[in-house]
Amino acid sequence: MAIPIIAIVGRSNVGKSTLFNRLAGQRIAVVSDVPGTTRDRVSGDASWNDRRFILVDTGGLEPLTEDPLLRDVRTQAERALAGADAVILVADATQGLTPADTDAADLVRRSAKPTVVAVNKADNPEREQAAPEFHALGLGDPVPLSAYHGVGVDDLMVALFDTFPFEPEPDEEEGAIRIAIAGRPNVGKSALFNAIAGEERAIVNPTPGTTRDAVDFRARYGDRDLVFIDTAGLRRRGKAEQGIEKYSVLRTLQAIERAHVVLMVMDATEFVTAQDAHVAGFVDDAWRGAVAVVNKWDLAPGLGLTESEATERIREKFKFLPGVPVRLTSALRGEGLQAILETAGAVYDEFTRRMPSREIRRVIIEAMAEHPAPSRGRRGPRLNRAIQVGTAPPAVTLHMERPYLIHFSYRRYLENRLREAFKLQGAPIKLELKGS
Ligand code: GDP
Repeated sequence: MAIPIIAIVGRSNVGKSTLFNRLAGQRIAVVSDVPGTTRDRVSGDASWNDRRFILVDTGGLEPLTEDPLLRDVRTQAERALAGADAVILVADATQGLTPADTDAADLVRRSAKPTVVAVNKADNPEREQAAPEFHALGLGDPVPLSAYHGVGVDDLMVALFDTFPFEPEPDEEEGAIRIAIAGRPNVGKSALFNAIAGEERAIVNPTPGTTRDAVDFRARYGDRDLVFIDTAGLRRRGKAEQGIEKYSVLRTLQAIERAHVVLMVMDATEFVTAQDAHVAGFVDDAWRGAVAVVNKWDLAPGLGLTESEATERIREKFKFLPGVPVRLTSALRGEGLQAILETAGAVYDEFTRRMPSREIRRVIIEAMAEHPAPSRGRRGPRLNRAIQVGTAPPAVTLHMERPYLIHFSYRRYLENRLREAFKLQGAPIKLELKGS
């Protein structure tokens, strides 16, 4: 199963947003696949006890109504339900069970998704007493909680993860590079994919017969096996569909999660926009490898944009992805396509790199000697042992004396020294400091 999508639903004012804010990470996107409607909020980096998930906050689920705006919100909630893997139905302990809750529960039950009922605003034992009443919704044991005070949220998540299997996807295609093509609408994702995979002048050799999943496109490029993830919305898109994002932000986030390397596509005539930075932020949160692709480069002469300016702007805006490779393409002219595939391969190699402990140790000791860490009195942090604890992405643990003296900027410095030494450009590095 891909990273699960969890929808928060319920009538207005029960505290859905408060719960969302408590569970969601910092990175919030707005689902924008249908322009002009109320928009769902989506979190890109929600996690609980190391389990990552995507959280969707829907508008209030009011009973069926003639009010067009409210009807929109309802449709929206129904869509969110359809796309979710599990549901948190929020109710209000101070109001007790209302007809609107029953109505919302009916909708949720019809979706047949694993569901937990959260009885919110149960700020004191008296209000907790209200929870059993919500048994009547027929959606299992209601969990009393206070989203505002953060009480009972753990119980809710335990109950929720009990309702459905949560197995990270096995790495099926051993050695195949999983590539996601991400970016805001109209930057040329479809054009790029079709230029790479298109029948007439395919850059890659499609490998039919291995296609189990119709949405993924499998291919070979040189001696590499590639899997382009969730390309159903990108294939041979007709004129009529252009500009409409067929696949929502949710699917993009899931594709990013499944990828080793993300091609973050931007438009040379209009970059780096806030939405581009958002995509990059999601890639960063998911710890994936990245290649920044500036498409429509054929239009660059008219803009007076040079390659170094383009690279500089990306570096400026994506400070959290230091060293990310930048490639320029024209899907229209079929230019730069091999270069992005070569780069994706190189980033995959970084992503799966193994670094000898002795080397990691040498790099860190050198870095700390050249630029000592902040100390308290005469005692500063000291490295005892360095070890790579994981690949894809590379993860390094430094066992130290007094690691608590190391703050964000010094940690970044150590990270960057490791990046330089092991030539990690598009791949992230997970650095953990432990006391010993
Ligand atoms: P998507 O929404 O990101 O998949 O974008 P599309 O692939 O549908 O492309 C959006 C528009 O940009 C279409 O009109 C394309 O013809 C155009 N386009 C895509 N790539 C290029 C390119 O490299 N150069 C130019 N000039 N136009 C392009």
